[in-house]
Amino acid sequence: MPLTLDQLNSAPADAALPLLDGLYEHSPWIAEAALAQRPFVSLAQLKFILAQVVSSAPLEAQHGLIRAHPELAGKAMVSQSLTAESTHEQSKAGLTNCSAEEFAQLQQLNADYKAKFGWPFVLAVRGPRGLGLSRAEIIATFERRLRGHPDFELQECLRNIHRIAEIRLNDKFGVSPDLGDRVWDWQEHLSQYSEAPGQLTVTYLTDAHRACAAFIREQMQVCGFDRVAVDAVGNVVGRYDGMTAGQTLLTGSHYDTVRNGGKYDGRLGIFVPMACVHALHRAGQRLPFAIEVVAFAEEEGQRFKATFLGSGALTGDFNPAWLDQRDADGVSMRNAMQQAGLCETNETNTVLKRIASLQRDPAQYLGFVEVHIEQGPVLNALNLPLGIVTSINASARYQGEVVGTACHAGTTPMNQRADAACAVAEFMLACEQRARQDGDSVATVGQLLVPNGSVNVVPGRCQFSLDLRAPSNAQRDALQVDLLRALADICAQRKVSHHLTESMRASAAPSAPEWQSRWENAVASLGLPIHRMPSGAGHDAMKLHDIMPQAMLFVRGQNAGISHNPLESTTSDDMQLAVAAFGHLLDQLAQVSSVGSNSFGQVD
Ligand SMILES: [Zn+2]
Repeated sequence: MPLTLDQLNSAPADAALPLLDGLYEHSPWIAEAALAQRPFVSLAQLKFILAQVVSSAPLEAQHGLIRAHPELAGKAMVSQSLTAESTHEQSKAGLTNCSAEEFAQLQQLNADYKAKFGWPFVLAVRGPRGLGLSRAEIIATFERRLRGHPDFELQECLRNIHRIAEIRLNDKFGVSPDLGDRVWDWQEHLSQYSEAPGQLTVTYLTDAHRACAAFIREQMQVCGFDRVAVDAVGNVVGRYDGMTAGQTLLTGSHYDTVRNGGKYDGRLGIFVPMACVHALHRAGQRLPFAIEVVAFAEEEGQRFKATFLGSGALTGDFNPAWLDQRDADGVSMRNAMQQAGLCETNETNTVLKRIASLQRDPAQYLGFVEVHIEQGPVLNALNLPLGIVTSINASARYQGEVVGTACHAGTTPMNQRADAACAVAEFMLACEQRARQDGDSVATVGQLLVPNGSVNVVPGRCQFSLDLRAPSNAQRDALQVDLLRALADICAQRKVSHHLTESMRASAAPSAPEWQSRWENAVASLGLPIHRMPSGAGHDAMKLHDIMPQAMLFVRGQNAGISHNPLESTTSDDMQLAVAAFGHLLDQLAQVSSVGSNSFGQVD
């Protein structure tokens, strides 16, 4: 019989501890400390509390926990002396069926890892979906993490230990994140469409992109949307009608990717609401408002420089000059649109008229919400599955150049140089220091070039980029004023000249307070702490912000939250929580509309 939260909450202390036996390898102190915080309102809360116990334990105890783990495919597995839980996990990942070569490779990795870090390599081998990683994935992860820094690797081992405990806990409670699995599987399926072999690249209106649209459209139909269509810019739009013809909740995210990107960026925000609509449809339930889920065709600006084209079309922001932009193969956007069957003609007036008709009337909408993978390390480091976005950061970008004097590297004394690259280097450190002062501002020099530089020449020119972001326009502007002044001072002191051109500027998109608080209520209802954070990345929500209230929910990424990278990952358990939070938001809106409903409730 699976364990229930009621049983766990009501058991006397000495009877409760054995109920959580085996969650953390040979370390009952963790469950013991967590049980002191009973009652738990949800499994998600229990998992968080367990992780908190470990985070607040002394370093020695954390090391002890890691050392209590067996090596992967190690001697303990061979001699069958693993715990029952570890045996199950290692066999599920196929480690008991290693070829002689794989086995030898793992032994070498075990030895190298132990020599470098002093503890065994810990990996949640059942993976983000719980089905087991492949041996190739395990070996690749092992090799990658072997190159890591010990401080990072210690935390990464602990995070994997929490993931192992999460899966063990699900098993104990007989819980499986079915809706999260569904969302995970959709994304896995969608990731097979790519224009580059061996990596995930889906750019605007390529064959892979159109295959993605077709799959999303088909799945929306399966989910029970009343109307599903591809619009004039390639957005896939699914509409689930309300009880009456009233207002509509708008939601969604993008399905295009950067080159060699991750499987969840954008797509998660399409599939989470789809899972909710599917659940409503199966329950034969209608809400007092309609739900419109839009899979935006273009957000990343990869094939054409037309970032946010998909969501911009809904706000009436489409630049007609884009139609004549050509991709790397010389294909114009207007021809790409015609080839994709979005318009029978490529004639300007007709195309623009069709696109203009996509503009939404804000009076018809309640607001816009977007679920997105965090794309950063914050939630992962806090052991929190969900975060609430307070604002999409304001940004400004520049291209700059410092000009000094190119001269002989051997004959020019250090005090008689005008080194352009040194000036930029000093400026970079000033950026780092100034942005840090704010706590939540960021400043990045991502491109650095010494044109025609040579090993024996003092750099006479140095070109660079500058990217500034902050949660409010005022904070960004203050950062900008200080950094531009710092650049001028550094250049004056070093007797070099400089120029800087602004290439992009975007206003902050603060979350609408009532919508942000709906996400907060939803997260609190799951028994999880509320963590508010700005979004450092731009999202479709910042376009919709121009015409209606918006707020976003972030979902934790694995692998320290890495994104725009094939290592981007999140678990089906976290996706389940995102679906539950979205369902709770729908329930809140339904209650405001005076008709109660409670079809999602808690995951557990
Ligand atoms: Zn995105």
